[in-house]
Amino acid sequence: MEDLLALVRTSGGGRICFDAEQEQVERATSDREGRTVKVTRVAYSTALNPGKYAELVEQARRLGRVRSEVWQRYGSVAGVGSGLTDRRVRDWWLAAGTHEQFGVLANAWKETVRDAMADIGANLAAATVQVRRTVCRRTSDPTERKRMLTALRTGQWAGEPFLARQMRKHWKRGRNRTHDQIVVRADQYNVAADVRGHLWLAIPGLQRRRMVRIPLSTIVAPTGTLRLILRAGRVEVHYQIDASQLRSSQRPCGERTIGVDKGYTEALTDSDGDHHGGSLGELLSSESDQLKERNRRRAKLRSIANNAALRGDQAKAHRIRRNNLGTVKRNRQAARHRARVRTEIFTAVHRVVDKAATVVAEDLAKRFAGRKTFGKNVNRRLAAWTKGVTAEALTNVSERRGSALVHVNAAYTSQACHRCGSLRRRSGDRLHCIPCGVVWQADVNAAINILQRAVDPDIALHTPHHRVKQILQDRTDRHRTRLPVQDSSPATTERRAKHPNCSATSNRRKQVDR
Ligand SMILES: [Zn+2]
Repeated sequence: MEDLLALVRTSGGGRICFDAEQEQVERATSDREGRTVKVTRVAYSTALNPGKYAELVEQARRLGRVRSEVWQRYGSVAGVGSGLTDRRVRDWWLAAGTHEQFGVLANAWKETVRDAMADIGANLAAATVQVRRTVCRRTSDPTERKRMLTALRTGQWAGEPFLARQMRKHWKRGRNRTHDQIVVRADQYNVAADVRGHLWLAIPGLQRRRMVRIPLSTIVAPTGTLRLILRAGRVEVHYQIDASQLRSSQRPCGERTIGVDKGYTEALTDSDGDHHGGSLGELLSSESDQLKERNRRRAKLRSIANNAALRGDQAKAHRIRRNNLGTVKRNRQAARHRARVRTEIFTAVHRVVDKAATVVAEDLAKRFAGRKTFGKNVNRRLAAWTKGVTAEALTNVSERRGSALVHVNAAYTSQACHRCGSLRRRSGDRLHCIPCGVVWQADVNAAINILQRAVDPDIALHTPHHRVKQILQDRTDRHRTRLPVQDSSPATTERRAKHPNCSATSNRRKQVDR
């Protein structure tokens, strides 16, 4: 399995739709040569006086109108889609006097225009990913596919009727929903410590030369472009730092190729049989129980308040809403829980990267992108969210530590025996393969399957799942006719020794099964 990496790198040319993985490999390699990766840090304000907070809210509201204007005018194929730059927009607005209606300082709206156009660009990039998938699925001719993917990558899709149609289908015209953010350029603010050592961030307000000073609860001064988000009477200062400064980024990655499966009780299980992030399940279930209980109580209180209001007791209704149904504490506790889960997952990914130069994983982002919301179902909502965090952690840690991340098609990896490929139903954390006469640990079996998918000659990233099933069934049939598996054969014994995570079923049981 050690030579998987070499195989992955060389098999790209002849493989269908292997471009995505190739790109990933190359990107991570270039990181090893010193490209910088950024990570986001958040600093929080301490209690802010209400007047200051109100001024910031007003500035954010006005900048929200700037954002809405940008989305409305340029959020389409003819706008950002045609390669329009924020510099051009700024010049137009200055010439036409568009900016005067917003009542904010020049630097503030200019920076907001840039940010909103970047948002639209990100939206466009997400649509491009979906169109890539469609191209891979629909075109069978490799040169034609290559031409289309290149057109997509370079933004030349408008001239291709098929691509233009697909882009219009996937790139839904969005609108601005951000009215609580202020973006401040690096040369527009300053941070100073007072005599007690507390940091104060001073940013431009609504009037020239009148800075708004915000007390911070941190001892590390934020740097670079700042994004201030106003939430529940508090200011969050988001900024990016060079990830190479982080101690965890200095840790070298391993040398092997490891497959990982995302589990529910553990964050990750790898193809060696090791589990990482073991307390994830506990964290999630306790949170989900607490949320259920809390939501039940809140519903009860809300109905009491509503009844009081119906009776005409507005004072009581107001009191309950204010004192018992607030969101500040709830939001902070939720944020703390999210931070804990993220730490657990990121630590798990670091453990895997400790031994891996290449991590093979399911394309987790794919399955959950654009999926419907889960409504009130707390469990499923949490599970969906952790999948997203795992995907983010895998990408982020791989980039920072210089390991490669390869995404594979994970269809049936949790149901197929990794040795003979026959499809079985898992029961709990076990997968009983009757032809092999073995009980695998389901997560480990899945991780090994995922690892093997990286060099699978037939199953590519975008192979539809029914086709995958067909391929697996064909293999099983061949396996059965050519290789009668016997318990005493040396090959089997050797395999068993290599995979201590499986246990053999008793011979008696096996005879019954046959
Ligand atoms: Zn089997």
